[in-house]
Amino acid sequence: MANVLIIGAGGVGQVVAHKCAQVEEVFENITLASRTKSKCDKIAAMLPRKIDTAEVDADNVPELVKLIKKVKPDLIINVALPYQDLHIMDACLETGVHYMDTANYEPPEEAKFEYKWQWAYQEKFEKAGLMALLGSGFDPGVTSVFTAYAKKHHFDRIHTLDILDCNAGDHGLPFATNFNPEINIREITANGRYWENGQWVTTQPMEEKRVFNFPEGIGDKDIYLLYHEELESLTKHFPEIERARFWMTFGDSYLKHLEVLQNVGMTGIEPVEFQGQQIVPIQFLKELLPDPASLGPLTKGKTCIGNIIRGSKDGKEKIYYIYNTCDHQDCYQEVQSQAISYTTGVPAMIGAKMMLEGKWMKPGVWNVEQMDPDPFMDDLNKYGLPWQETWLDKPFQ
Ligand code: NDP
Repeated sequence: MANVLIIGAGGVGQVVAHKCAQVEEVFENITLASRTKSKCDKIAAMLPRKIDTAEVDADNVPELVKLIKKVKPDLIINVALPYQDLHIMDACLETGVHYMDTANYEPPEEAKFEYKWQWAYQEKFEKAGLMALLGSGFDPGVTSVFTAYAKKHHFDRIHTLDILDCNAGDHGLPFATNFNPEINIREITANGRYWENGQWVTTQPMEEKRVFNFPEGIGDKDIYLLYHEELESLTKHFPEIERARFWMTFGDSYLKHLEVLQNVGMTGIEPVEFQGQQIVPIQFLKELLPDPASLGPLTKGKTCIGNIIRGSKDGKEKIYYIYNTCDHQDCYQEVQSQAISYTTGVPAMIGAKMMLEGKWMKPGVWNVEQMDPDPFMDDLNKYGLPWQETWLDKPFQ
């Protein structure tokens, strides 16, 4: 039985705290810490059993080390923002604690979506006998494990991979992002990029568009090519992949709002001086937009995230589609959060459980697709994210 420290009390932190609290046989003691302690206390009050809460600025390594020494966790689940990743990894090394997260480190001043900074910690974690598990959310996370599972059970060789992320939920508001607006907008306004024949191909934001008929009654949706961090790790760990792309659905109204915000400079990440103060436009915009956590009771409809994989087995070419659908209202009933936070928080709990049960325990820095997919896939079915698999007649073009 283990003691965990969860850092970050946003939309995802709320789900992770709920799900860990549900699995008492693994997560015996839980501490939830964030910059704002009142957010942790609010979440703690919703849970079926008692957890501890604390205030910490995870960018202040000595302050974090002090908290870790007090809590003495076996593992830190980092669901703060990508800017904190390296600071939390440093504190883990200093105190001898395992680490996991759901998003790659981002330097605050540039949107990069690269793993290189965290992969550079490989030797340090290995030498310390500690494990850092990277990207145990949904995408990256479940989509990465889906790829490993497909390779293990269905293919000798993967030729193409398309990750399709559909949010068919509607919150009824004119404009809001479903997770941290700053991260979300940085992701969407960046150039698109995909892997083809051993190199990256760059596209303009939203340049590549398709329509895909999603299962379980969702139907036809517009889907756009984006760069997403798991493409980097998946093409590294499955070098046979000839083409890897990531797609996300957006409605016309969402894109129109974003275009206007971009045109007027509200999505910028460079500080501007305003009445004697330095203001980062996108951070100011975040303050104006609805808190993603407040969308829970409003959002209706489903998400559907999965992979279409074309590959060969015993010389025969096959097209495989594996996905999860998740209902926003069902998530809200269970943990008072919408499906975007739920589909990230559940795999974060499962990744932590894999490590603490010793099923995924290996010193060093690892992405989830480097681990055995089978126990994780079993737990997805058990803890709220059941998956379906099917074979398609036509490739996704
Ligand atoms: P939120 O913005 O809702 O929450 C972030 C939380 O982190 C807040 O509670 C915030 O503080 C806290 N935080 C920020 N800075 C610090 C700091 N310096 N020290 C301590 N706590 C801090 O984000 P989400 O919950 O939506 O997302 C959490 C993470 O999950 C992000 O990294 C995001 O990129 C990732 N994510 C991953 C997905 C995946 O599928 N892999 C999908 C969606 C999200 P405060 O307490 O002051 O509010």
